[in-house]
Amino acid sequence: MTGFQPVIGLDLGGTKIDAALVAADGTILARHRVPTPAGEGSAAVLDAMASTVSAVLGQGGTATAIGVAAAGVIDPVTGMVTSATDTIRGWAGTALAAGLAARTGLPVACDNDVRAAAATELTRAEGPDASLLYLAVGTGVGGAVAVAGRVLTGAAGIAGHLGHLPSPEAAGLPCTCGATGHLEGIAAGPGIAAQYARVTGTVPGPLQRVAARAELGDAHAIAAITLGARAAGRVLGGLANAFGPHRVVVAGGVPRIGALYRNALRDAFATELMSPLRELRLTPTAPRVGHDAAVLGAATLTRTVPLHTPSTTGVSR
Ligand SMILES: [Zn+2]
Repeated sequence: MTGFQPVIGLDLGGTKIDAALVAADGTILARHRVPTPAGEGSAAVLDAMASTVSAVLGQGGTATAIGVAAAGVIDPVTGMVTSATDTIRGWAGTALAAGLAARTGLPVACDNDVRAAAATELTRAEGPDASLLYLAVGTGVGGAVAVAGRVLTGAAGIAGHLGHLPSPEAAGLPCTCGATGHLEGIAAGPGIAAQYARVTGTVPGPLQRVAARAELGDAHAIAAITLGARAAGRVLGGLANAFGPHRVVVAGGVPRIGALYRNALRDAFATELMSPLRELRLTPTAPRVGHDAAVLGAATLTRTVPLHTPSTTGVSR
């Protein structure tokens, strides 16, 4: 238990590490940012995380625990990085919680960044037993499922990987996980850009270029964006029927490319819903937390997932 003492929320990204000392009421008392030494391996990254903790505490204050939100598949029960891309060299297999607890002397809770953000959303959901679907569409498609007030983590921390649900729109397309036909292959930003490149016989560019072409009336660009949005909407609608969420949140950079995307997503979602859910609407992420969402979500983890204490880690400093 962390009681009502401040905790540290730490957001680990591929390019930067953000840490904040967060009071029990969510007020940020101190903050610090360092670049992620992604090319130097996991020990260097853990050292850098520990240095941000020291820097935050050096501004005056104490913390009872650290919550870490990190990219990759994180198992909050073991505190390990189950799998990850090579954005951070050697990140997969890292004893994240144990390594940071040993370096800082503080208990550490960790989870993947999307689930941490969903945990923040859950705190503003309807009642303590609320169920929530959270979809994040960016360079990949991630998500989280919360049922009866708890964000599901599942075996090996895999729960919530909504981008790896089968999608008819993605049939035959390769997925980053090695399978074919998963939602991420057609609905993530690179998936939409690749679809545009396929039908026009061009080299894939950034999603922003496809969005700009769509604005100018390019039918292929409009079709690629609509296809990705529709695929995401259908999967989300099917999940809503399966889980009966009180709220469905859509996050990430891709939905911000414009109304064309958002409208196609909304319409496809609504088309899939069974009649008892017809009042259900897609909602954007909470504006009030803005750019602090990541560190606040990380801080929340100290109350929602297991804490790994330094004395039980067995990892040397
Ligand atoms: Zn996949």
